[in-house]
Amino acid sequence: MSNPEKNPAEVLCETQPAAGVQLLEPREVPLGGPRAMNVRRTLPQRSRSLIGGWCFVDHYGPDTTRMLVPPHPHTGLQTVSWLFAGDIEHRDSVGSLAAVRPGELNLMTAGSGISHSEISPASPTLLHGAQLWVALPDAHRHTAPSFESVAPTPFDLQGATVSVFIGELAGVASPAMVFSPLLGAQLDIPAGTTVTLPINATFEHGVLVDAGAVTVANLATPPDHLAYLAPGATELVITASTDARLLLLGGEPLGESIVMWWNFIGRSHDEIVEFRAQWQADVINGGNPDGRFGTVVGCDEAPLPAPELPTVRLKPRE
Ligand code: MN
Repeated sequence: MSNPEKNPAEVLCETQPAAGVQLLEPREVPLGGPRAMNVRRTLPQRSRSLIGGWCFVDHYGPDTTRMLVPPHPHTGLQTVSWLFAGDIEHRDSVGSLAAVRPGELNLMTAGSGISHSEISPASPTLLHGAQLWVALPDAHRHTAPSFESVAPTPFDLQGATVSVFIGELAGVASPAMVFSPLLGAQLDIPAGTTVTLPINATFEHGVLVDAGAVTVANLATPPDHLAYLAPGATELVITASTDARLLLLGGEPLGESIVMWWNFIGRSHDEIVEFRAQWQADVINGGNPDGRFGTVVGCDEAPLPAPELPTVRLKPRE
């Protein structure tokens, strides 16, 4: 997805001190358009902007609506599209055409630059899922753009159903390509069940609750909230008193400062200014269809112009 904010701030994201267990509240961001739906954003926010390389967590639906996100650019990140319900058609400038379906990972590596569109079928349908971004470490952020789909096989873990879409959990690994040590998994936990997950002590973790009455390491975590856990533990105990669905995210602290604005990640304000100028000149004004962001193959929608740059530079975090 494109960051739907009309006037996005430029945000400096950096690994913050470990804080034990921390409850991160969602903030509503309107997606706009005639069938306006809201997304609930838990990363970045003032008290935490990164969990490992995870730098952006938008949670949306269930809503009967149509996703119509025209071609837009990305740099320096991977987008992770994960649906609980819905059907979205992905097209991008490296020539991919893919269906995004529930339980299947769509992983797009922007690297030095890519553009893509995400459009659901013509009639409104139920849409429910998460749009996640991973910041690429400096050593890999200029990598060539690419796209892959991965359909993980769900497995039983202590009564929960687990799908590992990034990294490894309980000996089950995803083949998806990532550039820093990371974990991403969906857990469906039946009412009255406690699971004790084996976790990597060098990772920090986040648990996004989609539905259910859940405690994460004894912290009551309501739906739409993200529980943060500092590195150091080898086990994570999650208890569901009603049927629950959640996403477990983790990773080694990135240890780098990144600058996020709109759909770009860079390392400085000047770099963001350059990415925006190239998108506007090459694609919006049609100056160079073979430039940094290429051309989305087979999409008839007009590309999305970038918002105006903020007058305030580098607001430290959100
Ligand atoms: Mn996007």
